[in-house]
Amino acid sequence: MAAGIMLAAHAELETGTLTHPAGRAKFEIIRAAVRRWPDWLQSLAEIAGMEPPSLRRGTIVLDNPNVSDFDASNFDAILKGLEDDDAPFERLDPADIDGYRPRPHLRASRAVRIDDGGAADAFEVMNLLDQTATRLGVRRVDARVESIADSVIHLEDGRSLRPEVTVIACGAASDSLIQGIPELTGRVPRVLHGTGVGLRCRMSDSSTIPAGILRTPNRGAGLGVYYVPSSDGRFYLGATNVVSMIPREHPRLGSLHLVLQSAMDEISPELRHAECRTVAGHRPISEDGHALLGATSVPGLWIATGTRRDGVTAAPEIATRLVNELLGDGDGLPEAFRPERRPVSTLDREAGIELAVRSRVIGPRSLDASISGRRLEDTVRRQVERLYDRAGLSSGVPAELLDAYADGHLHAEDLVPPSFSQ
Ligand SMILES: Cc1cc2nc3c(=O)[nH]c(=O)nc-3n(C[C@H](O)[C@H](O)[C@H](O)COP(=O)(O)OP(=O)(O)OC[C@H]3O[C@@H](n4cnc5c(N)ncnc54)[C@H](O)[C@@H]3O)c2cc1C
Repeated sequence: MAAGIMLAAHAELETGTLTHPAGRAKFEIIRAAVRRWPDWLQSLAEIAGMEPPSLRRGTIVLDNPNVSDFDASNFDAILKGLEDDDAPFERLDPADIDGYRPRPHLRASRAVRIDDGGAADAFEVMNLLDQTATRLGVRRVDARVESIADSVIHLEDGRSLRPEVTVIACGAASDSLIQGIPELTGRVPRVLHGTGVGLRCRMSDSSTIPAGILRTPNRGAGLGVYYVPSSDGRFYLGATNVVSMIPREHPRLGSLHLVLQSAMDEISPELRHAECRTVAGHRPISEDGHALLGATSVPGLWIATGTRRDGVTAAPEIATRLVNELLGDGDGLPEAFRPERRPVSTLDREAGIELAVRSRVIGPRSLDASISGRRLEDTVRRQVERLYDRAGLSSGVPAELLDAYADGHLHAEDLVPPSFSQ
């Protein structure tokens, strides 16, 4: 419920996403899912006997090199992905975007409107799923799972269930259940909590704010800002990302500040008039950043988690393929995401360090940026190199996981280096 539910595939592309089998597999899943969403909602709505939630179509991606070194190269990767796929898009002059009023020195240099995808409303989608499940006679058990052993699910209230098939799909909370199953201990990458906070906002006068979805490319470490308007002056601003082994319920001031600053400086200062409330959730992030999807060696036990920042978008495609595998019919889940595997690295150490440095120096450049910016970057680079040394990392890891490696929660020796994981 914390998600802005951006339905994005090409807009999530980054330099290098498609150079590794796991990156390609993820992109193919979310691209197929984005295409599936309209029909999927329609078919659920027919079962539920209600109107499908309306999808807001189209997303504008802004390239803002004055804020982040990721923007230009990831924007290029997005354009290339769109061209290669022959996907519908239109280059825009940022000056022509309705309601887009960034600070003059933070105006985007390029913009593209992607027609596929857009956004859905989390409340409407959850309501639809709820009604559909009821109509289908899905029996829901209102209790938390404490552990799973010998094909028996033990609930915290003392009851137990003996299903034929179990799918562990508890988001970031899947980790303790998976690690508690003796046959799987040490065989499945850990799942961490990527705590994210977004803001649900409302403006009494919506005429001064942008009418369409605006976002930046991804900015490393799960960062980047996005603005998702719905109806009646309501909009969603997202989102922070702080990774930890245990859930954190509240945002860090620093990351919330970055979202607010980016929104008001890079999109429009008018947004400051909105009333807002924060919504928090936890992205399930695996030890190598890739999803964990499929059967395990424990008979009847499946896992579907680790979807990071795309889990809602990918849901209909993952669910369809998981059911195909269960029934032995149709396209299955990608090999790259089999849950029992060693965590794989897709970067060499130098590329990993570069990624972490760039993630840590995001922020609007001041006008005297060149000298102070270079000094800051040098200092950050030394810090990041120390963290890599402390973790004993000889290959690169996702920027948001570096602290977990340096603090000894994750272990460099478990990683398959990039030359073996291609
Ligand atoms: C701020 C924010 C913004 C986001 N924006 C987007 C977006 O725009 N688009 C997108 O695709 N994704 C987005 N995401 C990511 C997305 O929310 C996740 O990838 C997705 O929710 C993962 O789905 P899941 O079902 O695996 O886990 P969850 O959504 O976390 O669901 C897990 C479920 O399991 C239940 N559970 C947990 N433990 C137990 C237990 N022991 N027993 C029984 N039940 C349990 C929980 O109560 C919950 O209902 C965002 C995430 C955040 C935090």
